[in-house]
Formats: sequence, structure tokens, C-alpha cells
Amino acid sequence: MSELLTLIRPEIRQLSAYHVADAAGMIKLDAMENPYVWDEGLRAAWLEHLKTVNLNRYPHPHAPAVKAGLRAVMDIPPEMEVMLGNGSDEILQILLMALALPGATVLAVEPCFVMYRFIAKFAGMEYVGVPLNEDFSLHREAILAAIAVHRPAVIFLAEPNNPTGNKYDRETVCAIIEAAPGFVVMDEAYLPFTDGDAMDLLRQYPNVLVMRTLSKVGLAGLRLGLLVGRPDVLGELEKIRLPYNINILSQASAEFALAHYSVFEAQAKHIRAERSRLFEGLSRQPSWTVYPSEANFLLARVPAGRARAIFEGLKAKGILIKILDGAHPLLADCLRFTVGLPEENDAVLAALQGLR
Ligand code: PMP
Repeated sequence: MSELLTLIRPEIRQLSAYHVADAAGMIKLDAMENPYVWDEGLRAAWLEHLKTVNLNRYPHPHAPAVKAGLRAVMDIPPEMEVMLGNGSDEILQILLMALALPGATVLAVEPCFVMYRFIAKFAGMEYVGVPLNEDFSLHREAILAAIAVHRPAVIFLAEPNNPTGNKYDRETVCAIIEAAPGFVVMDEAYLPFTDGDAMDLLRQYPNVLVMRTLSKVGLAGLRLGLLVGRPDVLGELEKIRLPYNINILSQASAEFALAHYSVFEAQAKHIRAERSRLFEGLSRQPSWTVYPSEANFLLARVPAGRARAIFEGLKAKGILIKILDGAHPLLADCLRFTVGLPEENDAVLAALQGLR
């Protein structure tokens, strides 16, 4: 190995890079995107709006118009601050950079969004994953015991959770927040596909932060995430956020998209209806267990040893899903299907006929 590479921290060298599969020309059901493209009218109006942008100047460092747009479509308490990130991934990076005291720990329940662990490692933090129960509910005693031992600086709870699609028992969530010596981030990436949210927890508990994103509702290409929290906490985090992290094209596009948010809400409603239909179709596959989901994807456990063959078989037919078998002991034989357009979901169900 080149001498120079030894300068790179060993915990980084031990990681494998976040892998994104090549989906060119495929029915893309691997990444929880909204499958609807914009109609011509919306597209033309967006491009018209972009004509007002000048690229010679830096963007507004605080993107006030974007924040006002977010407050107009989301139930953000007026007394709370909003911090923007280039996707919620960047919010995680900012938060963990701020919390990375020597020996500081990140705790998450597993299986969960892998970036909690990745970014903890990038920040040089300890990471503790506490397994969920077999039905993906919170293992209350195990989590409370891990909190007592590791005293985490931050705990991540995604509701609905990725890749399991479920939400948690509210009373247990409150017990975790009350036992936590540090922050608890409620990650609501999949909020558009469920009812209820964590803003009441944010109001009630000073250690709660709420993270959201525009990615899943239909703006994954935009890369806009937000963190909602108390002004004193967000004031500290703002010192780490790079001044121009939301570029001028993203700001202009986000302003436009938020002014047309009802379009995306309507699409999310269609996706929820399609989720039910796909759930029924997948559940009809012999010996499959499909888990109820409040997100825009479905997790399925296929007969033992068949996940790879089904994944590859679908790929050969031009359909890309996510294989999770091997990613975590609780995900043995599991596949994840993002809910697609009605015709894409039909294509999945038809393709599965020959693969069981
Ligand atoms: N949180 C969860 C639970 C996710 O599943 C994802 C994306 N897969 C994200 C956050 C990140 O979203 P983004 O960076 O696109 O805002």
C-alpha cells in the first residue's frame, strides 16, 4: 500500500464505499424514489422560474425563501428553527461533527438506515446498533440497557423505519427519549406516506430533534433535507454548516417545488394506494412474508436461500430492487421493493410468476 494511504484513518480504510447500483434503462425500484415525472406544464413553469437565477453570485447563505416555503407546507412549530442540508445525509454529517467529542457514541436500532453508522465512523465516533425485535418493534429493555451502558450523545429513530417500513410504539419511544442523556433524532424521511408526526415530541422534550427530507415525496434529485429544533441547539450546528451548502439552483427549484407541493402530496397519495395493491400482490407469492409498511416501499421475506435468485431474476427482466439478505441478521432472505408506477408494479408481479 502507498505510504500516503497510511495517513488515512484506519476506520475509514476499513469501510467499503456506499454502493449505488447502475440502474440505466431499468425499472428502478431500489431507492425509494417517487416514480412520477413532472408533466409538461409544471416542467415549463419550473424552467421559466429558473430564468430568474444568476449564477455569478453566491446563493443566499440561509435560504430564507426555502425555509418559508417549508413552513408553509409543514407543521413546523413557529418557535423552532430550521437548518437545511444538502440532503438529510448532510444534516447527519453536520450533527455528528458537532457531537464528536472523543469517545462519544451514536446509538441506533437495527436494521436501520446505514448512513447513521457510516457518518458516525466518518466523524470518528463510536457506533452501537441495538437489534429490533423479530417483528421489528423496539426492544425496550435492550435499548434502555444500551443507553445506560454507552450513554450515547445521540440516538437515531426513523419513523417509519428504513428498511422495515414500520413505526414504533409511542410509549416506548417516550421512554427512550426520557432515558437518553443526549439528543434523540426522529428521522421522518418517509413522513409523506404515513399519518401523524413527531412535532409533539419535539415540543415536549428539549433533547428531541426532527429530521425530514424532500427526497421521498418526489424531489430526490434536489438534495434538500431539514433539521427542526430549538434555536440554541441549531445555532451551534449552524456554525458547522458550510455557508453555501444549498446552491442557488437548488434554492430556486425548492422554492418552486414547495409552491406546488400539492402536486407531490397527491402523488404520495397514489403511492400509498399502490403500496396496498403491491402488498397484496407480493403477499400472494407462495411462502413469502410481506411486512406492513407505512413508507413508499415494502420489505418481503422470501423462502430461505431464494433472495439472490429472485433479485437476479428480476434484474435479468429489467427490474432493479434492493437485496437485503446478508445486510443484517434480521434481514435474512429479505428483499425491498420501492413502490413504483402502477404499470411498474404490475411488471414486478408478472416477472415474479416465473421466478418463484
Ligand atoms: N433517513 C432515512 C431513514 C432514509 O432512508 C434516507 C434515504 N434512504 C435518508 C434519511 C436520506 O435522505 P436524503 O439524504 O435523500 O435526504
